[in-house]
Amino acid sequence: MTQITTISQLLSNPSCMDDYDPNAMPVEKARRFIQQFLAPVTETERVPIRESLGRVVAGDIASPLDVPNYDNSAMDGYAFQYTDDLSINATTPLNIIGTAFAGTPFSGMVNRGECVRIMTGAMMPKGTDTVVMQEKVSLKEALNQPSSICFTDIPKPRANVRYTGEDLKQGQIVFSNGHMMRPADLGLVASLGIESINIYRKLKVAIFSTGDELVSLGTPLKTGQVYDSNRYTLHGMLTRMGVELIDLGAIPDDPKLLESTLLVAASQADVVITSGGVSVGEADYMKQLLTQHGQVMFWKLAMKPGRPLAYGKVGHAHYFGLPGNPVAVMVTFYQFVREATLRLMGQATPAPLPTFQVQCTQAIRKLPGRTEFQRGILFADTDGLWKVKPTGAQGSALLSSMSMANCFIVLDVSVGNLDAGACVQVQVMDGIV
Ligand code: AMP
Ligand code: MG
Repeated sequence: MTQITTISQLLSNPSCMDDYDPNAMPVEKARRFIQQFLAPVTETERVPIRESLGRVVAGDIASPLDVPNYDNSAMDGYAFQYTDDLSINATTPLNIIGTAFAGTPFSGMVNRGECVRIMTGAMMPKGTDTVVMQEKVSLKEALNQPSSICFTDIPKPRANVRYTGEDLKQGQIVFSNGHMMRPADLGLVASLGIESINIYRKLKVAIFSTGDELVSLGTPLKTGQVYDSNRYTLHGMLTRMGVELIDLGAIPDDPKLLESTLLVAASQADVVITSGGVSVGEADYMKQLLTQHGQVMFWKLAMKPGRPLAYGKVGHAHYFGLPGNPVAVMVTFYQFVREATLRLMGQATPAPLPTFQVQCTQAIRKLPGRTEFQRGILFADTDGLWKVKPTGAQGSALLSSMSMANCFIVLDVSVGNLDAGACVQVQVMDGIV
């Protein structure tokens, strides 16, 4: 198959269009089409590690140290040298010759018949290789001081010791290029003594809504008008992803205004996302403008909600034309824009939204022939098992259904009506990125 590098090549290359059916594009196929055009940002910046949370690592990070950096005790107890011939039993005492604290090592040598009181994290004293937990010894005292121990339970050789390099070896790659930094990763990098790391620059994403009926907040509604909510859900989803957001407002269906806004967006951002006005077949201005200024594919997807979707390039910017209906905006965002954005941010292999099977407690109505993303609530039932129930009415304008939901119930193309108790696939949408 010919290597495809531009969308116009794709649109004009019949062999690539063999499985391209604009009338009912399956969700997975649309995802794959989009994926082939996603070249990640290349510019990098160096930031203190706290600022790297949610950002994508540029280049590999190798450990400059062994972690841990020295053999140390995993327990509060007594360190001694385990020897096979050591007649360690409940009756042979080991004399306590000192104490090792985390941060204050015991500097002497420990010989046969001796041990050192040791705290968790303290360096293993010279001549020791095993720690017995303090709960597994009996103490003998001399002059009111603990003077020796006897084992009540004989430990295994080398027990309770954290060895040098056991977590990470010096030179080992800790994070590869394209890794997204999470809270544990900040701590791990800190544990290596690294103060700042290279990350990819923030992705710039411009958004605007389209529609004559849209009113921005602060203006009273007249008959036939609705408040523009799509820019707010997009703001929420994109802010969570850590992009730099450029909000260009709600633009009426006016070809001149739409054109100038589109061109500003494409010149300023890596990604342009609009909502509304992409229904296929409609004589709407966005479609004409995009054909004039970009290379954009208009799909009728075999999915519900979110049937019309446009994807392409306008100048250097990637363009996503989402449907206008508020639920469809969110569904198409989670199904297409999220993964594409993560790839453009530099993530090599974005983690998919967690998807698994659970029992659905209510019957579901569904027509075969398209993938449906119904809104669901995952909950722990009285029997302790997690189950899902639909949020209720599933209209694509019912944004309250998204507010109630914590997952999508993903119903495959072939699935029809389901009885209560059926097993369904759910996709968790919240708190993942
Ligand atoms: P459209 O895709 O432009 O035909 O819009 C489909 C439906 O979504 C219509 O009912 C619009 O009023 C509604 N809609 C479009 N954009 C928005 C928006 N930004 N906020 C809320 N509703 C919208
Ligand atoms: Mg419209």
